[in-house]
Amino acid sequence: MVTTPAPTPTQGENPTAFADQVRAERLALLWKLTAAIVFLVFWALLVISTSAGLARVGDTLIAGIVVIAGCFLTAAFLNRNRYTWAVAAYAGGLYLAIGILLYAEGVGVARTAQSGLAALALPCVVLAVTLLLPLREALVGLAIGIAIAIIAPNLGQPAIVINSIQIASILLMLFTVGIAAQFASEMYSITEWSLRSYQKERQLKDQLFDTQQEIQRSYMRQKSLSDELQNANVALEASRAAEAEAKNFRGQFLANMSHELRTPLNAIIGFSETMLKYPMMYQNVALPEAYRHDIQLVYNSGKTLLQLINDILDLAKIDAGRLDVLIENVPLEPIFNTVKATATSLIGSKPITVVLELPPEGLPEVSGDPLRIQQVMLNLTSNAVKFTQQGTITFGGRREANGEVCLWIRDTGIGIAEQDQETIFEEFKQGESGRRQGSAGSGLGLAITRHLLRLMNGRIWLESEPGKGSTFYFTLPLAQPETQAQTPDQVSTT
Ligand code: ADP
Repeated sequence: MVTTPAPTPTQGENPTAFADQVRAERLALLWKLTAAIVFLVFWALLVISTSAGLARVGDTLIAGIVVIAGCFLTAAFLNRNRYTWAVAAYAGGLYLAIGILLYAEGVGVARTAQSGLAALALPCVVLAVTLLLPLREALVGLAIGIAIAIIAPNLGQPAIVINSIQIASILLMLFTVGIAAQFASEMYSITEWSLRSYQKERQLKDQLFDTQQEIQRSYMRQKSLSDELQNANVALEASRAAEAEAKNFRGQFLANMSHELRTPLNAIIGFSETMLKYPMMYQNVALPEAYRHDIQLVYNSGKTLLQLINDILDLAKIDAGRLDVLIENVPLEPIFNTVKATATSLIGSKPITVVLELPPEGLPEVSGDPLRIQQVMLNLTSNAVKFTQQGTITFGGRREANGEVCLWIRDTGIGIAEQDQETIFEEFKQGESGRRQGSAGSGLGLAITRHLLRLMNGRIWLESEPGKGSTFYFTLPLAQPETQAQTPDQVSTT
């Protein structure tokens, strides 16, 4: 037997269409087989009838021709994809041929092998129809088969007679339809199940394919991003190196410049101070009053310039990472006294009162570099005096619960605009207040102050309201039981 490869269902096909497709292929095989069998039967009948001298060969020939015609019609319908029509043509040919044979024999006439075979061939046709068509159409086929079995032999007879072969044929047809319908419905369920599974698997495969594509795309994207990142890193590394080199160069330059400037400046300050304060150095010849004001200006400007140079030197050291901070336990009282005295002298004739806001038990010792703590406080104090015309400057402090001491310097000066409150801690940045003041200022004091505090593990921040005043807070860690002096490299910088 020839096996036809099972058709492959395409996506979106329903199980009925798929079943029809399978059946159509079976039918194509079936009509060819039928035609071949009919040819064989013809040949056999011709041989037998010629040798035995039997009549009725004509009926058999007609029946055979009808079957063959049905087969060709079937092929034609199949070619046009008219499946139901093809089955109808195939079954119709067979039914008609059997009907012709049964009619030719008649009922009650002496039976030939032909008539018996014809009656029993009906269940075979019904079986084929049931297997090839859905149940409803199969039942029509059954009805036609039964009708042929009963009517064909009785055509032209006075009364309808049903013999045992007819009854056997009808019973066989009923039995065949029952079994075949059951079998076909099972096959249909199996087909449906396998088709669904196939469709599911195909969908899954498609999804997997899409996912794989997506993964591939995101891999490519990631690769190009990582390439970009790598290039950016290389560029960043290069610019970091350039920045470090520039900083180093700037530090070196500032250090040299400051050093070179300080020597003549010390002479200017020293001589102007001697001229103002020590006439004995000039054989007690007092400085003429006409010069005093100008020499005082030279002296003051020299001091301001020296402060600026010292700041620049500190900045250079910060750049080079060589700012010295020697950490030890520091009592704050002497520093407060010095700062208060300096504040009083800086205030001069301004109507400003200096206030101390300290706890009655005093402040505990802190951990830091005493000179640098003093430098921090003097920076903040000189700013407070510089930006306050009247009112109070308050020095305060308290011990915090978190193991720190918080110190503050509050003034009733011009205050700092909101947008300046962060930037004034950057190098060479002055706030609106500083620019308005027009006084000598480099914008370095707070930057150095913040850096010094970081070196001593402290923090600085401020609260200010323009027109009302500012408060600068800073913290220092409480003194350690045994604090060792540390070199700058050991000090943690943030
Ligand atoms: P400068 O040498 O300009 O004072 P600083 O770094 O010490 O540099 O201060 C930066 C800026 O911060 C000042 O120019 C000023 O605008 C502002 N500032 C600092 N302290 C005060 C203050 N107590 N009151 C008002 N403005 C202040």
